[in-house]
Amino acid sequence: MSISFSHTFANEMDGFYQACSPEKCTAPRLLQVNTVLADELGLDHKLLHGELGASIFSGNSLLDDSKPIAQVYAGHQFGMFTSQLGDGRALLLGEVIDGNGDRRDIQLKGSGRTPFSRGGDGKSALGPVLREYLVSEAMHQFGIATTRALAAVGTEDWVAREELRPRAVLTRVSASHIRVGSFEFFAAKGESIQVKRLADYAINRHFPDIKDSEDVYLQFFKSVLQNQAKLIADWMSVGFVHGVMNTDNMTISGETIDYGPCAFVDRYVPSTVFSSIDEHGRYAYENQPKIGQWNLAQLAKSLIPLYQEDHEVVIQRFVDELDKFNHIYESCWLENMRAKLGLIGESESDLELVNDLLTLMHQGAADFTLTFRYLADVRLESSLKFKSQFNESVNVNDWLSRWRKRVVADGQSEHQCVLNMNAINPLYIPRNHKIEEALEAAANDNDYEPFRTMLNVVSEPYCLRSGFDKYAEPPPPNAAPYITFCGT
Ligand code: AMP
Ligand code: MG
Repeated sequence: MSISFSHTFANEMDGFYQACSPEKCTAPRLLQVNTVLADELGLDHKLLHGELGASIFSGNSLLDDSKPIAQVYAGHQFGMFTSQLGDGRALLLGEVIDGNGDRRDIQLKGSGRTPFSRGGDGKSALGPVLREYLVSEAMHQFGIATTRALAAVGTEDWVAREELRPRAVLTRVSASHIRVGSFEFFAAKGESIQVKRLADYAINRHFPDIKDSEDVYLQFFKSVLQNQAKLIADWMSVGFVHGVMNTDNMTISGETIDYGPCAFVDRYVPSTVFSSIDEHGRYAYENQPKIGQWNLAQLAKSLIPLYQEDHEVVIQRFVDELDKFNHIYESCWLENMRAKLGLIGESESDLELVNDLLTLMHQGAADFTLTFRYLADVRLESSLKFKSQFNESVNVNDWLSRWRKRVVADGQSEHQCVLNMNAINPLYIPRNHKIEEALEAAANDNDYEPFRTMLNVVSEPYCLRSGFDKYAEPPPPNAAPYITFCGT
């Protein structure tokens, strides 16, 4: 039995990876399999269950067709350049063509040491594996471009972190694993021929339409920039904080990747930081667009040497495109926010309306998710839940009457407006405190029910379902600030 893998990266991109085998683990067992995703990928269900599934998705058995490789990359981590990174705990098994005809990578994460592991053990602990599964699935349900989780496998091995933790392996699916850092690796060595090979490969794979355009690498840069601007606008619209937006964690495809210390904003504070290592708030919620642009500047720097023309002229062309980032980001963001407020037309005052609500939310310590969710109820003359999100220090009545005037001007029926709003403003997000509960139950008590319930909740985030009230609630007001740790 096999998966009909192809290997365009392995076949065409020698020098960008090293072949490597997974390390075996003890007594693997499937904790979760994403059968919907497996169907999208056209995988045989016989591979997905029991001992065979556990063996395949832990890396203990290699399917005939697979050709495991660890990809090399560099990256700016918290602004500092590291010339040698790479898949230190992940192996690409191969590529499959999904039901839409799109090429997807299938990768094991936590499968043991690789030539790029440096001091690390190449393994993953159970908690971060389940966390990535939950959060990436929620992001997908929010319609946000993301890598997906195909399977989580538990083992009877332990990994040494601050304390011993159960070892697990995640199977991750992505449009590709090419990152900004993949370009920086050879650019830093001055090897433009290699950078060009990678750019040509990435264009072929992700942006075939621009292949024959005149200024192809600038077009490539524009396409990546467009996708990243949209992606970060989408993150901002659900209160997602990635937490470690290093250039090696920014994809060329525009998918969210590397769910390490990520978390969702509860009470709306724009400067929110969750990651224990982000001491200066570089990757704070409100800084994400600016950092996206900074990362893209690193991509531009890697691509500029591909041109033979006058250096200054080429730099200016890339800078001009980079300067458009803010405008592109803001229009993606405003489009999202208009939809969240149930606005269908466009009015010049929309930006102010959105920003004024955000200011009130900040001042009134409002919950990001529920404020938007319960705004729809106001359309149905029930403003209690919306108003209860804000503390007494703010009065939202003026804002509500401006909003009401604006939505009424659209001429859309109340019913349709509420339907639209409830289809874009989730009721359930993977709340940080609920994620922790689920991970603790799994790691400490071998109890996977809370994880499965939460996965069930986030798989339908827009639909009110009985029995799940707790999952919609923010953490208790007296809860300690939430802190995340880099998921390894
Ligand atoms: P991250 O911050 O998770 O994106 O990882 C940054 C770099 O560290 C990447 O090159 C990873 O492959 C590597 N890395 C992270 N955790 C481990 C680990 N447990 N063993 C080996 N390498 C790791
Ligand atoms: Mg990474």
